[in-house]
Amino acid sequence: MMIGIDSLAPTAHVVGAGPLLSEETVMLTIDGSAGEGGGQILRTSLALSLATRTPVRITGIRKGRQRPGLMRQHLTAVRACAKIGSATVSGDEIGSREIVFTPGEVTPGDYTFSIGTAGSTTLVLQAVLPALLCTTDRSTITLVGGTDNPMAPPFDFLARAYLPLLGRMGPGVTAEIESRGFYPAGGGRFRVVVEPCAALGRLDLLERGAVLQQSVVATVANLPGAIARRELDAANEVLGWDPACLRIEMLRGAPGPGNVVSIVIESEHVTEVVTGFGEKGRAAEIVGRDAAREALAYLESGVPVGEHLADQLLLPMALAGGGSFRTTAPSSHTTTHLRLLEQILGVRSAVEPLPGGAWSITLSR
Ligand code: AMP
Repeated sequence: MMIGIDSLAPTAHVVGAGPLLSEETVMLTIDGSAGEGGGQILRTSLALSLATRTPVRITGIRKGRQRPGLMRQHLTAVRACAKIGSATVSGDEIGSREIVFTPGEVTPGDYTFSIGTAGSTTLVLQAVLPALLCTTDRSTITLVGGTDNPMAPPFDFLARAYLPLLGRMGPGVTAEIESRGFYPAGGGRFRVVVEPCAALGRLDLLERGAVLQQSVVATVANLPGAIARRELDAANEVLGWDPACLRIEMLRGAPGPGNVVSIVIESEHVTEVVTGFGEKGRAAEIVGRDAAREALAYLESGVPVGEHLADQLLLPMALAGGGSFRTTAPSSHTTTHLRLLEQILGVRSAVEPLPGGAWSITLSR
């Protein structure tokens, strides 16, 4: 069966009820170049292939990126999914733009996946985690590589914003970090423990509630603490928070240098984490100020779900068969992801602007 991401005919089925379409083996073809054309299409296709036991052919992998095809991080995700799902794979090599992935049984257990570079470990987790949420036993997943990468969920976002929301849908999912890994040295390591549930429940996240706690943490690995101080000062010029909310974390003995600013806003119904990344040639003041402006925009928007949480909540909500949230204007990751989920799982989505600039996104069967 060919399912292009722009196909008009979604395939309806019940997640968790066995093979996608009765006994026959149906191969879905996913166009990895559609819409956003990035790694998310690959990861979600793998995750849903495992969750629904459906073979997939993914073509045009990451065609929308400067260096298309599988990079080390994506290859690790493909092989990690193959490992937990006893899958057979063809085309799994660096640079490959097409793979065929045929899953077997998903087996919960203790797994370690090492990227071998500073590639994003949290993105590898995005591919393997969904299938382990509704199994018969506990799993532990240890990931080695980059933990705090630009253009990927940083560890603090994963642990404090994303996983607690997954937890509200049924499974117990916690993450503990051993060491942070930054580009280019990598070498970070964290462990995720999954206590599965029978089936994911829907999540509705329409209100943020009152802000309970807020903090700005500037982390420096093998770099002077003055960088972190400058970032905090610049951030707080924008935020104007109680200085007790500001903290410096100095990491010694990391495999390489690194710098990240995490702004955590803990509200009644959701925690949001906004991140700024230090890099050579970018002044600490700009890193701190830009992250703070993003955090302020989130606070002023009044919505519970920020841009990155929005595209990442869609997959578990689609697996649960429904959910809803209020967010900011949908990103291209969100619109591409919605299309893909509609067409693989047959869920319906309603994306509507609300008065005052917020948006509502609702998924249903
Ligand atoms: P892709 O570009 O297709 O590989 O997907 C990148 C993923 O990383 C998307 O799910 C983004 O929402 C997520 N992401 C990028 N930057 C951040 C960030 N600062 N915080 C949380 N998630 C992020």
